[in-house]
Amino acid sequence: DVTLLWLRRDFRFYDHPAMVAACANGAEVIPVFIYDDQIDTLGAAPKWRLGEAVGHFAKALAEKGSRLILRKGDPLVVLRDLVRESGARAVHWSRAYDPASITRDAGVKAGLKSDGIDAISHPGHLLFEPWSVQTGKGDPYKVYSPYWRAVKGRDIGDPLRAVSELRAPTHWPNSENLSDWRLGSAMNRGAQVVAKYAHIGEARAQDRLASFLRDHVGHYKEQRDFPASGATSGLSENLTYGEISPRAIWHAGWRHLQEGAAGAEHFLKELVWREFAWHLLYHFPDLAEANWRKEWNGFSWRPDNADAESWRRGMTGEPFVDAAMREMYVTGTMHNRARMIVASYLSKHLMTDWRVGRRWFEECLIDWDPASNAMGWQWVAGSGPDAAPYFRVFNPETQLGKFDKSNSYRAKFIFEGQSSPSQSARDFFAAIPRSWGLAPEQPYPAPMIGLKAGRERALAAYHKHRDTD
Ligand code: FAD
Repeated sequence: DVTLLWLRRDFRFYDHPAMVAACANGAEVIPVFIYDDQIDTLGAAPKWRLGEAVGHFAKALAEKGSRLILRKGDPLVVLRDLVRESGARAVHWSRAYDPASITRDAGVKAGLKSDGIDAISHPGHLLFEPWSVQTGKGDPYKVYSPYWRAVKGRDIGDPLRAVSELRAPTHWPNSENLSDWRLGSAMNRGAQVVAKYAHIGEARAQDRLASFLRDHVGHYKEQRDFPASGATSGLSENLTYGEISPRAIWHAGWRHLQEGAAGAEHFLKELVWREFAWHLLYHFPDLAEANWRKEWNGFSWRPDNADAESWRRGMTGEPFVDAAMREMYVTGTMHNRARMIVASYLSKHLMTDWRVGRRWFEECLIDWDPASNAMGWQWVAGSGPDAAPYFRVFNPETQLGKFDKSNSYRAKFIFEGQSSPSQSARDFFAAIPRSWGLAPEQPYPAPMIGLKAGRERALAAYHKHRDTD
């Protein structure tokens, strides 16, 4: 028997339910990756990073005597072609949960089934299927704490053993060349620079988990908010592309919890924030586009504007904000506390619509995840479920005093004014487009807006809106 394994965001061998199912009963397996129009909608950094994940996994498959067949086109058409060419009787894949993927996958499933082909989707991207967690009334959760209480004791089974062999078919179908797809072509920030900071592939992901559990989990709770501490796992990037499964992380975390590691429960709770984000996006599919709290519709957020452009360029004159925006541009990720601070600064001090910021994150993050990004922005802006109230405005200077007393984060990403700037601060200037007109010799800018004035402006607008709503 021949089976097709349609890979999308699941580039791993360990704990891969769809791959295990495709290989069952000694079937010959054809792994395939399809470049469909969804990929054209990706921002520059996620698209580049996806290409790296695909290329890396193609090599890993080749080392096992298998291949990754690459095709461009409508997935149902491509899969039908491959079924015809190979004589496959079944197609397996790991589920995706964003609205566009759900629609696409439902169409593929129906189409293949009508041809008499087994089309089977599997879990693997999440710990808990979004529809499997419900309140006592049968509704989805809207608040994190009860969600956490509902899931924390669940038995999610053990991770599946790594697939060691994928039997090759007698004839391999043709494949396109990854380099022809030019997935990194929109990376005007220089894939070279971001590549230095990325951790691509399953082996790197597993190393990251092991070193985090060895060196950091014990003080995770105390250290995780300090952006220069390196005390978090960095695994979001690998989770996005399925280079590690959440279940593998969950199990390793549990073991540490049982062995008494102090920060392990907190770490598991963070992992469950990712689940909660997917739970929300699944049940409220317009989470990335629409204010979840409808009373925010009509609020006087500014559309995109020149201040937002300074924010994107890391030139607001607020060192915490600028260090963070430069960190994202140059490394493709940003520390969680910093994400909250820059999001608050944009949506409150600069009174700019959270969707403007969400879009820039989508363009720049190599760990871009539609659910966590949308939830994070709505949480900070105050418009989301279980959100920080609007009047809670982060003060980036106070935050710097609390979380970067020694100036390490600032020094890591801000070049101006330093006699021996760090490599990452230099990398920022190497990565930015010329059109930004920035140079390291220029003085660091003065703050764009007084923090007090910005806060008061935002609160006045909020009170006005609330009173007229
Ligand atoms: P760790 O501290 O090691 O945590 C372990 C894992 O738990 C993470 O890898 C991640 O999967 C999950 N996690 C931790 N914190 C959160 C959180 N607040 N929300 C959801 N999951 C969490 N995360 C993304 O993966 N992609 C995004 O596009 C994204 N956009 C965000 C936008 C905003 C405005 C905010 C405030 C947060 C966003 N986050 C996003 C969540 C969070 O910032 C990152 O997941 C985290 O910084 C990743 O670093 P880490 O892997 O070292 O995390």
